[in-house]
Amino acid sequence: MQRYGLDIWGDDNFCINQNGEVCINLYEKPSLLSMVKQIRQKGVKGPLLLRFPHLLKKQVESVYEKFYQAKKEFFYEGSFSAVYPLKVNQYPELVKHLMKYGEHYGYGLEAGSKAELLLAMVYNKLGSPITVNGFKDKELINIGFIASKMGHNITLIIEGLSELKNIIQTARERKHNNINIGIRIRLHSSGVGAWAKSGGIDSKFGLTSMELLKAMKMLKKADLLKSFTMIHFHIGSQIIDINPLKRALREAGNIYAELRKMGARNLKAINLGGGLAIEYSQSENARYRHYTLEEYANDVIFLLKTIANQKREIEPDIFIESGRYVVASHGVLVAPVLELFSQDYNENRLELKKKNPPLVAELYDLYQSIEPKNALEYLHDSIDHMESLLTLFDLGYIDLKDRSNTEVLVNLISKKAVSMLGDKHSRELLSIQERVQERYLINFSLFQSLPDFWGIKQNFPIMPLSHLNERPTRAASLWDITCDSDGEMGFNPNNPLFLHEINVNKEDYFLGFFLVGAYQEVLGMKHNLFVHPTEATVQITKNGFTITNLLQSQSILDIFEDMDYDVKMIKNTLFKRVKESKKISQETKKDSLKELESYLEDNSYLKTIYNKR
Ligand SMILES: *Cc1c(COP(=O)(O)O)cnc(C)c1O
Repeated sequence: MQRYGLDIWGDDNFCINQNGEVCINLYEKPSLLSMVKQIRQKGVKGPLLLRFPHLLKKQVESVYEKFYQAKKEFFYEGSFSAVYPLKVNQYPELVKHLMKYGEHYGYGLEAGSKAELLLAMVYNKLGSPITVNGFKDKELINIGFIASKMGHNITLIIEGLSELKNIIQTARERKHNNINIGIRIRLHSSGVGAWAKSGGIDSKFGLTSMELLKAMKMLKKADLLKSFTMIHFHIGSQIIDINPLKRALREAGNIYAELRKMGARNLKAINLGGGLAIEYSQSENARYRHYTLEEYANDVIFLLKTIANQKREIEPDIFIESGRYVVASHGVLVAPVLELFSQDYNENRLELKKKNPPLVAELYDLYQSIEPKNALEYLHDSIDHMESLLTLFDLGYIDLKDRSNTEVLVNLISKKAVSMLGDKHSRELLSIQERVQERYLINFSLFQSLPDFWGIKQNFPIMPLSHLNERPTRAASLWDITCDSDGEMGFNPNNPLFLHEINVNKEDYFLGFFLVGAYQEVLGMKHNLFVHPTEATVQITKNGFTITNLLQSQSILDIFEDMDYDVKMIKNTLFKRVKESKKISQETKKDSLKELESYLEDNSYLKTIYNKR
């Protein structure tokens, strides 16, 4: 059984059934393929984003339960609260479910812009916390004050002194002096990972010690010190080790205690920001995360308790703003394979001559006589021969037929060798396979659906949804359907992906891209005008599943409209040009018009390389 590292990244969310299909590890364990089939029966083609609300529920619950457990274990006196940072994924299906599952815990929202704050004011339950980060102008601050009057438990977290000035002024203007103010602190313990600029002394955000002292004076003078309730830090996303967090906690804990001693008596909360990592790795030796949620919760509680006790201050209320950890697992992208680049390399394609160049003849011998004990050696030899033969072609010594025979034979040999060598993916074998990799053309846009792979080379777990009881033999590189050469995930010997040799003319073969629920959907780009794929929400029930929200990918006309094209003009011009064309016969004009119309109303993902995908 091929597991594609499921035991490393899967968190028991998925399983593999007896038919070799990926399934949801709940109740009847329905397969992802059965969901995809049901959706495609409705005429949907192209890539699909599946949302699994039960995984949102699981993550929200685990965050609260682990912290509640840690609080109990250490007799911690402060409270624990969590908010969901909207920037991680603002799609309504997700936000609605998350708020529903978090409601009885008092789960709140974090906003980083006016638009997000307005959303939070609608979807947040009155009384659950809202935190506001990011740069704020007067308007955003005004919206915050309105939210507070509405009954929201909102904290405006300032990133700099000018924001504080604005808040003080607004409080005076609106005669509203009990808004909660938080201060983002700039830590000297630096940020981590690809997002190091989030924390650390050269960070984009937060107040230095000097600025903190100034802020205290400003608050006192404006008689708003009682509104100062929270300090905040965020050292980066996907924190892979726990140590930077511990350093940050020590620093923040001490700042908290010092500020209280200086008179900030209503300062009761420390907000740790986000950063809880998830495991994206498919191989044991390339793990991304080196701690568990339990460890994280225990460390936070223990450290803050210790510092508060040492400094004889009350144990602070704890807030976290974890995003990635909560929502990444709920999203799975399913994309059909359209084509295998070398699927036509089979024996029928050989056009051997009566007399072949010696190296071609030798390749044929290798192909005939390869067996497990010599497979690696023969594979090596065949690649050497191929390189010599290609040089001979360049120099004009062999013809195109010889060259084609070379390609076909080397492909056949490598397939045979890989299946003979079994799971012994030695370094050497991997490096050979890098040179004879199979290109899989996938009906999706990497720029739209996995932008973090393009931008920061973030790996996402990938596996086929079926055939898992057969050994995959092809070293795979994945190509998307944009016409950009960056739209490729090359075969990587450090993180090798092997897929099955499938005749996609005869059967469907779908790839699943997992853990794409955080950031990808909203960072996605409309490169080549491929937009957000069709999405569906799948509720797992006691006896199967139900699809509750099938939302088709935008039509081409909608995309044009979003970009402020005059869609009427576009339609009229296309139609006029058909009507006036002398090359389209009168009888077929009507059909051409109909055709164009239906294409405009459809999305732009591929439908028909081989008539059914
Ligand atoms: C981005 C961000 C988060 C969420 O980070 P995750 O790594 O997704 O948990 C939380 N708080 C702030 C201030 C952020 O900027």
